[in-house]
Amino acid sequence: MEKILNYINGALVEPHSGNHLDNIEPATGKPYGTIPDSTKEDVDQATAAAKAAFPSWAALSIQERSNYLLKIAELIGQNLEELAQAESRDNGKPVKLARTVDIPRAQANFHFYGTAILHYASESHSMGEVGINYTLREPIGVAGCISPWNLPLYLFSWKIAPALAAGNTVVAKPSEVTPFTAFLLSKICIEAGLPKGVLNIVHGLGPKAGAAIIEHEDIPMISFTGGTATGEWIARTAAPKFKKLSLELGGKNPNIIFADCDFDKMLKTTLLSSFANQGQICLCGSRILIERSIYDLFKTEFVKRVKAMKVGNPKEEDTKLGAVVSKPHMEKVLSYIELAKEEGGTVLTGGKQAEMTGEFKDGYYLEPTVIEGLPHTCRTNQEEIFGPVVTLIPFDSEEEVLEMANSTKYGLASSVWTENLSKAHRVAKGLHTGIVWVNCWLLRDLRTPFGGVKSSGVGREGGFEALQFFTEPKNVCIKY
Ligand code: NDP
Repeated sequence: MEKILNYINGALVEPHSGNHLDNIEPATGKPYGTIPDSTKEDVDQATAAAKAAFPSWAALSIQERSNYLLKIAELIGQNLEELAQAESRDNGKPVKLARTVDIPRAQANFHFYGTAILHYASESHSMGEVGINYTLREPIGVAGCISPWNLPLYLFSWKIAPALAAGNTVVAKPSEVTPFTAFLLSKICIEAGLPKGVLNIVHGLGPKAGAAIIEHEDIPMISFTGGTATGEWIARTAAPKFKKLSLELGGKNPNIIFADCDFDKMLKTTLLSSFANQGQICLCGSRILIERSIYDLFKTEFVKRVKAMKVGNPKEEDTKLGAVVSKPHMEKVLSYIELAKEEGGTVLTGGKQAEMTGEFKDGYYLEPTVIEGLPHTCRTNQEEIFGPVVTLIPFDSEEEVLEMANSTKYGLASSVWTENLSKAHRVAKGLHTGIVWVNCWLLRDLRTPFGGVKSSGVGREGGFEALQFFTEPKNVCIKY
């Protein structure tokens, strides 16, 4: 059994309560380790350590802070295979995905912010003969970073790296459902010689350990990625304390396919944007909107390929879909498939748990599911399912597809497939989402602003946006 410990003030420690939670392997449905069931006391201890470490961490030169981040990046690279295996075991995702996407991206996050901080500069505003203003961008103090289970180390490091680079210290909590790579990261930080208290990782339940971070008086900024309902609670709780908030929340992303697209490229990418990571990526295109003249062709070809996708043992290299993350999550996704049927939808393929044998028979496997025949206004097409389920919806005009695409409360990401340049620009402009991909999906440049509008979040991550969030601007005005 793998025993996970908290990482507080530079040491791996037991939780105050002495209680531990089971860590379940989604591929088998069996516990394979334990994690600390941390409480407010653990968060208090972690925050005190972070507060004490802040002055000396903030006082380091940016070159010195950069060196620590680059060392952590290097060690993630050296331990890539161990981390990928751990991520796959903890989350149920194919190990190939963890090896090629999750862990390299976690490494890139530390590398990116370890170098970005070297190039970060602030503004000055000349007043001609009268004087000059310059803006200082100063670290703030202890940052609270909370991340979800779908891309565990990838999203955890996406918050921690810029917070540390900017000179803050951190109290972080990964999802209790996928804590393992965060634990391995704490060992890497020890090996990298990160000064004690600079990063503290507290494991445990969201409403207990997570809430204690949100409510803590000594944590003035919160960077959170997770569900919209949790984000609402965080906003309500943090607002009266005037904390800085960055909220990256849910999505119900449209994937818009025009008849004049490059059909083969679109089809290949649409399989990924629908089902990568078992459809558990906030950016997955769960509503596929297809121009009516190619609707039948798309449906036939797409369903044929979806049926051929292998669901199974995450360790096998040719597995396309592993297990979904937990039993409650599997049940939630299945309940949405039932809802789709009640709402009049037709399941074209999938629609149920994938049957497995041997050690995997109690794992949480779902068949990739394609549904058609639903209006864009129904709950199935409005609510986030966050699993391997997509719906197909035909459209006749640009106006109609924009109306449908923009009809949900979410506004995270969208994709547009067309070879017509003017149409691509026009539709991209008309979409109410923070991110638009044209003829691609999940093509990431870490310098770009990342985040959503409406109920998909508040604020932007990525590039210098994150460094802006994790620093406070102070204007100094000098009269000549
Ligand atoms: P949750 O909102 O349930 O949890 C996210 C994190 O918040 C977890 O670490 C969780 O802990 C913690 N948490 C839960 N309740 C509280 C609380 N009251 N106070 C503080 N922390 C709390 O989301 P999921 O983990 O289910 O993640 C899936 C969601 O994340 C989807 O909606 C998805 O769209 C969204 N997401 C958004 C992304 C974006 O960039 N916009 C990217 C990836 C995912 P624990 O799990 O231990 O309970």
